[in-house]
Amino acid sequence: MDQIRERLRAFMSGRYGVDELGRVLAGGSLTLMILSVLFSKYSGLRSLLYTLSLIGFGYTIYRIVSTDFSKRREENQKAMRWLSDFGQKTNLTKYWERFQRWFQRERRIFSQRKDYHFYSCPNCHQTIRMPRGKGRVEITCPRCHEKFTKDA
Ligand SMILES: [Zn+2]
Repeated sequence: MDQIRERLRAFMSGRYGVDELGRVLAGGSLTLMILSVLFSKYSGLRSLLYTLSLIGFGYTIYRIVSTDFSKRREENQKAMRWLSDFGQKTNLTKYWERFQRWFQRERRIFSQRKDYHFYSCPNCHQTIRMPRGKGRVEITCPRCHEKFTKDA
């Protein structure tokens, strides 16, 4: 096992390796590969997705073992700039941020679920946190001051 690792290290010395574009390409190719399995019923679409994923993997590997560092770096910068422009133009960045905010909130609720109840205000849907075990409580929404009762 050490020998293989040593050989791999010798092989990789002076080669470009993985950068951001490499990760995007690998992830994209894997996604295409999975989609080609999911769409295996439609043979035309399946071979198209499969071929694209092979090209993607091929290019990913080509970049990893490449010795032309300056060209790969330039490629990476261009691709990342294009991706960020694309994200802004299509509002993907906004949706992604919104998703992250939602995800963080869900994770917080999940980690505190033993100690707190979470309610949403019937009027404005603001999330309200109440310690558990307080019996029936009247809650006033901090945002819109709507009053409602809950068992905490
Ligand atoms: Zn409210």
